[in-house]
Amino acid sequence: MNITNFMRQAVDRDRVYDFMIPPENPMLNVGHGCLLYLEGISVSFDGFKAINDLNLYIKEGELRCIIGPNGAGKTTMMDIITGKTRPDCGSAWFGQNINLLEMTEPEIAQAGIGRKFQKPTVFEHQTVFCNLELAMAGNKNVLPTLFARLSPSQIDHIDYVLKQIGLSEQRGLLAGALSHGQKQWLEIGMLLMQNPKLLLVDEPVAGMTHQEMDRTGELLTSLAGEHTIILVEHDMDFVRSLAREVTVLHQGSVLAEGSMQKVQSNPQVVEVYLGEEAC
Ligand code: ADP
Ligand code: MG
Repeated sequence: MNITNFMRQAVDRDRVYDFMIPPENPMLNVGHGCLLYLEGISVSFDGFKAINDLNLYIKEGELRCIIGPNGAGKTTMMDIITGKTRPDCGSAWFGQNINLLEMTEPEIAQAGIGRKFQKPTVFEHQTVFCNLELAMAGNKNVLPTLFARLSPSQIDHIDYVLKQIGLSEQRGLLAGALSHGQKQWLEIGMLLMQNPKLLLVDEPVAGMTHQEMDRTGELLTSLAGEHTIILVEHDMDFVRSLAREVTVLHQGSVLAEGSMQKVQSNPQVVEVYLGEEAC
């Protein structure tokens, strides 16, 4: 195995960062450019079909926005991708070789799929830097990490992620002292420490100020390409501002797909959203 495969050199205006990154899963084969395939997925809860013959194809490097009214199945879809919920039928592949339906939740995380839940769950009594340090180790061995000395390459990796999430100046602050938006970015940074290939992000801008929303848009846009991102979002202005491909879920299936402009002019989509507003 060639160690240089795992070295990354990142350059920005101020400095050069040299760091080791967790290696990409050698099993992952994105030969056809498609990173995630969900096909014919259905799942019922007590006879109610929360996901109904869902087909979703995500290309490598995409930032895909998933929208849809409450109860459309967005969270359940994420639960299936991350192994929290098993579908009744269908297939779910990560690249061409990794069958997600045969894996446990930790195995899926290990394979390169990171998930950010809606509510930030940072370690409030640790510094921003320390939160990233803990995330680098995964949650396997917290104590040894706290007392271990970081290598220069590990420090560079943390510095680089701090820069990406715009929290370099807050590195020494306790995470509990951050604003709501900053905590969300820190949590995204914690995921980045594991170098996930696919990032699932659930409503990151809920409760954010406009400025924080703009910054979050910039962050997600800058991560796409190197990472692939599936963003579930309720805030239509935010989704519009990203100007990326949108998938509309309704009653557990894909109702429409395309640009925001295209899906917004789809009469079925309009009807579904008007129906929601009337509730
Ligand atoms: P969304 O995230 O789009 O709002 P969800 O995926 O949370 O939708 O839910 C889809 C539907 O499945 C909803 O009607 C919800 O009540 C139902 N549902 C989700 N999880 C469960 C569960 N564990 N048990 C029973 N019903 C569930
Ligand atoms: Mg949900």
